[in-house]
Amino acid sequence: MSTEEINDVVIVGAGASGLAVASELSKDFKVVLVDSKKEVTTTTKSWLIPDMVLDIGDARDINPYMYGGVKRFLTRTFGGADVIWDAYLKYHYCHEHELLAYWADLVKKNGAEIHLETPYSDLEVFDDRVVVRTLRGDYTGKLLLDATGGNSPIRAQFNMRGHYYWWSVYGAIVELPDGLNQMKVGDYMLWQTFRDSTVNENASLSQGRPCFEYEILDEKSAFVFIFYLSQEKIEMDYMKREFEYILRKEKSTSDFHNCVIQELKYGYYPSGGLDSQELARDRIGFIGSSGCWTSPCGWGMSFIISNYKRYAFNLTPALRENKLDKDTLSELTRQSMRSKYQVILDQVVTHFLSYASASLLDRFIQLFDPGSPLGDDAGLYCEKVFTLTLTEEEALHMLVAVVKTFNLKELADVLPKESYGYIAELAEKALEVALANGIEGVKHLLFHKKNEDVAKEHKLVSGFAFSSGLQ
Ligand SMILES: Cc1cc2nc3c(=O)[nH]c(=O)nc-3n(C[C@H](O)[C@H](O)[C@H](O)COP(=O)(O)OP(=O)(O)OC[C@H]3O[C@@H](n4cnc5c(N)ncnc54)[C@H](O)[C@@H]3O)c2cc1C
Repeated sequence: MSTEEINDVVIVGAGASGLAVASELSKDFKVVLVDSKKEVTTTTKSWLIPDMVLDIGDARDINPYMYGGVKRFLTRTFGGADVIWDAYLKYHYCHEHELLAYWADLVKKNGAEIHLETPYSDLEVFDDRVVVRTLRGDYTGKLLLDATGGNSPIRAQFNMRGHYYWWSVYGAIVELPDGLNQMKVGDYMLWQTFRDSTVNENASLSQGRPCFEYEILDEKSAFVFIFYLSQEKIEMDYMKREFEYILRKEKSTSDFHNCVIQELKYGYYPSGGLDSQELARDRIGFIGSSGCWTSPCGWGMSFIISNYKRYAFNLTPALRENKLDKDTLSELTRQSMRSKYQVILDQVVTHFLSYASASLLDRFIQLFDPGSPLGDDAGLYCEKVFTLTLTEEEALHMLVAVVKTFNLKELADVLPKESYGYIAELAEKALEVALANGIEGVKHLLFHKKNEDVAKEHKLVSGFAFSSGLQ
């Protein structure tokens, strides 16, 4: 099919980001979506979402597609880092197919078109429009939004690559015919590793060690998967073989050996930083995984929910004024976060998770054990890092605990040189906080090692966190 009329927006990709943004833009603009898939509800992803992002993104209308959620976090490494804590924050699992159907219905009710089985092939940018070529004809728009995900052909065409890490994921929704055994509904295995999963027992994730995770969705089903975190994507067939071995043969995954695979889940999503999100070209915006919409720890769907309404709102005047140059479009995405500080901290954590040896990671994970130098509520720090909700005081407290746990040489050996800038920014911020709080408070944090002192001061810190709320 070919159309000569000029749409306001052509969106390539009717996944989470394309449909979510289209559901808003189609209220005021003429929007067309194209996607190569056969059914609009198809997705190879499965989503766990912190409850708070529904408020951040003013997206309570999607609440009916949320259910259950994490109640307990666990880790189990072959080196003995077995940590368990009850979830402090509230999370949801998501009925992913139903959510996509909901957004697609809104798009259609607003009069926009969704063309499936329409793979993208090329584009041509003119001063006043973009022509998007697909295998089923051309679509013209004032603006093109690329929502094709972590393997965007459009980014590849522009030779664009941010300073990304990639989460490479392969897994499945499974049924558990033998029941849950010791596992409970709401369990989230955050980090399980195996001695024999690489040739080098102490290998890091970037050297090819897979991590096993599972989320117990209900009494009889789970989402189980392996993931890698590295600067290159891991080949899909390789991940599939590893997943099948770990799921069916590894001794410590015996609860899953007889499971029945219901639906495969796989893909790549970026883990970036502040720099990687500034992505646009004249008359082209990159959204979702294509635009590195993610927290540095990789919660891409959470980022989409937090930002899609705001993004569409901010884009509206630019579309009305037809001011769709690269600089204007680059300004549109703003992270929902308390401060840049959290993103930097999260980014350093991402570097660390990717590069640290298995034994260093064990020590890092043990930081989240209740009673570690982080205090009785140590797990809360972990949850706050990956939900980007640490206060500056808490981040400083965490930095101090990290410095007590590792010596600087160990950190310098693990973190790649490009993180040094981030660490310097962290140190600078820590100093600012120290000066604001009075240097005595920091000395107290650094040098008082008695447990009751740590617990007392920690209560103060987390009390501040809860009362200060979200921006
Ligand atoms: C297994 C897995 C689990 C995840 N779990 C979580 C989680 O728990 N929480 C969380 O916050 N995030 C999670 N994520 C990340 C989240 O899924 C992504 O951030 C999100 O899906 C990105 O949405 P998107 O619309 O940008 O891309 P996608 O969801 O990948 O959608 C891209 C769309 O573009 C279409 N497309 C691609 N190429 C073409 C082409 N050439 N022509 C036409 N159409 C094309 C595809 O068919 C697809 O419909 C997970 C990711 C994976 C892979």
